[in-house]
Amino acid sequence: MAMEKRDLHNEVKKMKSLLETTSRLIWEHPEVGGNEKESADYFRKLLGGEGFKIVNEEHMENAFYAEYGSGKPVIAILGEYDALPGLSQKVTDNKAPVAEGEPGHGCGHNLLGAAAAIGAIAVKRYLEAEGISGTVRFYGCPEEELLSGKVKMIYYHMFDDCDFAISWHPMSANMVYDSGYLASASAHFEFRGRSSHAAFAPELGRSALDAVELMNVGVNYLREHVTSKARIHYTTDSGGFAPNIVPPLAGSWYFVRAPYIADVKDILKRIRKIAEGAALMTETEADVRIDYGCCEMLENHAYGDLAYQNMKEAELPVFDDEETEFASRLVGTVTKADAEKAQKLYDTEGRPMTWKLNDRNLYQINPLTASSDSGDISHIMPMCVVTTSCWPAGVAPHTWQATAAAGCSLGEKGALSAAQIITGIAYDLYNRPDQREAILTEFNQKRDAYVPMYES
Ligand SMILES: [Zn+2]
Ligand SMILES: [Zn+2]
Repeated sequence: MAMEKRDLHNEVKKMKSLLETTSRLIWEHPEVGGNEKESADYFRKLLGGEGFKIVNEEHMENAFYAEYGSGKPVIAILGEYDALPGLSQKVTDNKAPVAEGEPGHGCGHNLLGAAAAIGAIAVKRYLEAEGISGTVRFYGCPEEELLSGKVKMIYYHMFDDCDFAISWHPMSANMVYDSGYLASASAHFEFRGRSSHAAFAPELGRSALDAVELMNVGVNYLREHVTSKARIHYTTDSGGFAPNIVPPLAGSWYFVRAPYIADVKDILKRIRKIAEGAALMTETEADVRIDYGCCEMLENHAYGDLAYQNMKEAELPVFDDEETEFASRLVGTVTKADAEKAQKLYDTEGRPMTWKLNDRNLYQINPLTASSDSGDISHIMPMCVVTTSCWPAGVAPHTWQATAAAGCSLGEKGALSAAQIITGIAYDLYNRPDQREAILTEFNQKRDAYVPMYES
């Protein structure tokens, strides 16, 4: 008898413990972007062992795809596995790193990768059992937190023959994003001055640190005169050696984000001018290095509808008393006002975790204001994004609380649900030409109307 969508969901459920083992293992060995060798190898081994063909990219050690099946459509399930610096944390309700200063999975990419892999395995079993035309690929995408991995993978043609992408992310809500992600760019600014004794001969020195500070002041004034949805943030980790030496070298690292990549480029040009101005004021020299950039997501309502329908059909995470209690204690570490605001937004009915399927249009009032290199994927093929409830409402990603939730059953339940949703979407894409057509028609229209991504 032919397998139905329900059977794929059950296939996922049968792999619950494999999902948990995978997620924990990645969580226990957090590796930051560019360094995810063991995590990538783990997924290669897992999927290779399941009968997938592993295709590596020679220019990117930690990127690969695992493929099964033949013919069209080719469905790309996007996996990630990079951690974040400094977010090491035990599964506890107080800030307690496993290892001080070490990385941790504060964005839940251990869950993301595990659910994507389990979803891909279930889809492979389906293709195998039915013998239908179609290919499934799990994409091992490194460096998401650097917003660069998928951009490079596109550059190296790793997605060239794919038709549809499915992505998900751990969150505090069960929802679908038709659009989202701010376009972004990363840039390093380095100033070179002249050292001198800061007291004996200050007139001979030219401070690179002064230039960094003046540049930052200038950028902070710029904020008022850029598109209101832009976000500009920076860090500085080099400001000289000691107060009695005029700093000859100093630099800062900027992220610029805005709703459209064209805005990002425009803001970056203006920041460059500010850097040049700071150099002029301090008689130093400025060097600018643009690291990478990524686009906002190209919206696709037809795909969003299909993903949402599949959220309705899958089993959403249900949390037991012990989990709810732990979630409450995590919520207790953020301000009451923030928690209440999030609980209202996600309509949790006073619970710390979201249980229900959120409103279809929640993404419009709760836009994804982070950025992701997945945005670029949505410009080369239709991509959907679903999120499931993996950490408490009020807990933000990139926090120790999120690391804690991602390392236990709170996050794993959300991931199991995501894996089911992924299989359901894939099932429909293989079996419903009308849906494929609708999604592709919208994709082609939106893409044709779009300002080119990488114009000079
Ligand atoms: Zn993140
Ligand atoms: Zn993330």
